[in-house]
Amino acid sequence: MSDYSNSPDHLDTLLVRGALTRSNYGETSEAIYMTSGFVYESAAQAEARFTGDDPGFVYSRYRNPTLELFEQRLRLLEGAEACHGTASGMAAVFAALAASVKAGDHIVAGRALFGSCHVILTQLLPKWGVTATLVDGADLTAWEAAIQPNTKVFFMETPANPTLSLIDIKAVADLAHSVGAKLVIDNVFATPLLQKPLELGADIVTYSATKHIDGQGRCLGGAVLGAAAFCTDDLQPFLRHTGPALSPFNAWLLLKGLETLSLRVDRSCDTSEVLADQLYGHKAVAQVLYPHHKSHPQYELAKRQMTRGGTLLAIELKGGRKAAWAFMDALQVIDISNNLGDAKSLITHPMTTTHRAMPEEDRAAMGITEGLVRLSVGLESVKDLQADIARGLAAAAAHA
Ligand SMILES: *Cc1c(COP(=O)(O)O)cnc(C)c1O
Repeated sequence: MSDYSNSPDHLDTLLVRGALTRSNYGETSEAIYMTSGFVYESAAQAEARFTGDDPGFVYSRYRNPTLELFEQRLRLLEGAEACHGTASGMAAVFAALAASVKAGDHIVAGRALFGSCHVILTQLLPKWGVTATLVDGADLTAWEAAIQPNTKVFFMETPANPTLSLIDIKAVADLAHSVGAKLVIDNVFATPLLQKPLELGADIVTYSATKHIDGQGRCLGGAVLGAAAFCTDDLQPFLRHTGPALSPFNAWLLLKGLETLSLRVDRSCDTSEVLADQLYGHKAVAQVLYPHHKSHPQYELAKRQMTRGGTLLAIELKGGRKAAWAFMDALQVIDISNNLGDAKSLITHPMTTTHRAMPEEDRAAMGITEGLVRLSVGLESVKDLQADIARGLAAAAAHA
């Protein structure tokens, strides 16, 4: 078994071969260990597995060889001490937060959040006595003002869904550490390739592997990465005994997804840059938000903390919902769907779908308007996507 550094020179090798182990059959492709349990050669060996003296496997809710291979490859990619796979991205976010707080604790979070993360912070955790304050993530003084004596965790997404607003990871990490809190980052939009939160000071990183890591719309999955001490002492007992375990089959799909992650993300970034230029300045467009486009309000920060602009664009159309829906309905290649990070380009109207349950004042504060659509750029030919965007713009222009 060889490991490969996650420096740019070796990244593609790591994605294909990192942490690779083979069974005694010498298979080329990683094996799928589709088993719930494991057997022992003797009663004494069973005891040794349970005491931990024998490091072998016990039960797939605890550990599984295919899952472990996925975890180790992703861990190497992220440069983390430890990684735990989960059944979905939300299981990862919930586990990361729940393993970090207890009743009476307080969380400060950037307001621009994935819908279900918003529900965890504002509805579920409060039932167990954990409160949260949501702030404008771009405003460092707002993070500081929200700190309470019981603040234990800072939580954020950057770039955020669906507005592609950014938060300065290093500045917020320094602030969190100055009051003894830790910073948890949901790094889905940037992918493990374009932004390295741990290097910028974050303590825990979560992924919805459903998105770019699978990247082909096949399965759900997630992961939590962080320091060995946190993962062993707090996260692992939480996961083992509450059971949001990733299926070995899905772990295998995600491993296969990692093999092509950099090819896919690079291609989508190339296309996203072209589409951002096409949309920018069009008469039907009030604003296009793409982190590495010079018009992004936080362009300098985007250049500093992301190596590329990512695979998502937010487009604010003139003419509100009528224009947004006309744009979407005119598309012939891009599908209307709330998923993202897929090989297929997908578009969504957050106001009426993913963010519909959010209180209107929170939506307004986040910049989710009637005219806003979110585009996830896939792998189709750039010419076909440009033609599709042109069709959408022509339809939207009638309402601008
Ligand atoms: C999709 C997503 C999640 C949730 O992931 P699931 O795999 O759907 O549970 C969390 N955060 C962000 C930013 C996402 O895009």
